[in-house]
Amino acid sequence: MISLSEPVLGSAEKKALCDVIDSGWLTMGDRVAKFECAFAELHHVENAVAVNSCTSGLHLCLQALGIMEGDEVLVPSLSFVATSNVILYLKAKPIFVDIVGPERPLISLDDAKNKCTSKTKAVIIMHYGGYSVDLQSWYSFAKKRNIALVEDAAHCPGLRGVGKRSDAAVFSFFANKNMTSAEGGMIIVRDSKLAENIRKLRTHGMSTVTLDRHRGHAYSYDVTMLGYNYRLDELRAAIGLSQLDRLLGWNSKRRELTKIYRRLIEEQVPNIRVPFEPGHASSAHLMPILLPPEADKELLMRILRKDGIQTSIHYPPIHKFTLYQKLFPGVRLQETERFSERELTLPLHPQLNESEIKHIVDRLSNIL
Ligand SMILES: *Cc1c(COP(=O)(O)O)cnc(C)c1O
Repeated sequence: MISLSEPVLGSAEKKALCDVIDSGWLTMGDRVAKFECAFAELHHVENAVAVNSCTSGLHLCLQALGIMEGDEVLVPSLSFVATSNVILYLKAKPIFVDIVGPERPLISLDDAKNKCTSKTKAVIIMHYGGYSVDLQSWYSFAKKRNIALVEDAAHCPGLRGVGKRSDAAVFSFFANKNMTSAEGGMIIVRDSKLAENIRKLRTHGMSTVTLDRHRGHAYSYDVTMLGYNYRLDELRAAIGLSQLDRLLGWNSKRRELTKIYRRLIEEQVPNIRVPFEPGHASSAHLMPILLPPEADKELLMRILRKDGIQTSIHYPPIHKFTLYQKLFPGVRLQETERFSERELTLPLHPQLNESEIKHIVDRLSNIL
């Protein structure tokens, strides 16, 4: 089976886990702090806060930025449902924004401008497939309207520029992402006051953490805001730290493999389109393709599966889910809907090789 994604795991991760167990301390401590520092350093920023998932990270950011009931938040519908669920957690309203088009499936600035109202308090952008949105223009957009800019950066750990201009950028270390800690996430925040609040919200809004009390640095605590238990633990931080060393190499490998896909598809199945310009800055998280409109996608996916090739769709639009149709009926996003109907995601991970890609493109070409 050629799987869609595959974490790189081995002796480094095993040793990292054993070291944590031998240390006798399992919950948030020195390794989490070290992981935060290493991640911040990789992205050339001051503050990074580790959390137990990207979803909890996005939730904390919106809450810390003051998003509340009645506020509107601009968000792409072409994303994983968590990107929009976090808006609902705060009883705010997601305003779904279309993508630019099939060749550039990123949140559209023009559509966002049309949908901005006096209630708009934030915009969440998402670097689809690891392909960077134009941060400069979104920064200007948000600044001009005095609204918060949050990046769902689940697809692009290690990508240069991410987290540099926004209020916060949130990464995922779920097992199918570019690096993993099993479950886990990281928040990059530029403002230290905001970072401090996010740290408190991560652990029940408490003023001290367990490790400080254990070490006798603090004897009690106060609770100053309504928080959650969104902490990362030492086991996951240790896996994350060991993966972080190899992240940039894996991202390069993913870009190389994407180039091979592009070349072979262009040569053998020119009626398949590949979104984005070849030089677009990317961590190459996904390998999306656009099938010719007449292709039967479900049948194609079933045949490929029988051939041992796993594929997927990124994404079914959020506004089309039953829950969202019930809450927000009548949303239409023409480009997003069209893209989602034609999109197919092919296997892409650092352990994939050129001959497997040849096999995948051969099969695609024959079946189509
Ligand atoms: C994976 C993913 C998330 C959620 O990440 P978790 O760490 O599983 O919470 C959010 N947004 C996007 C775009 C994702 O791909």
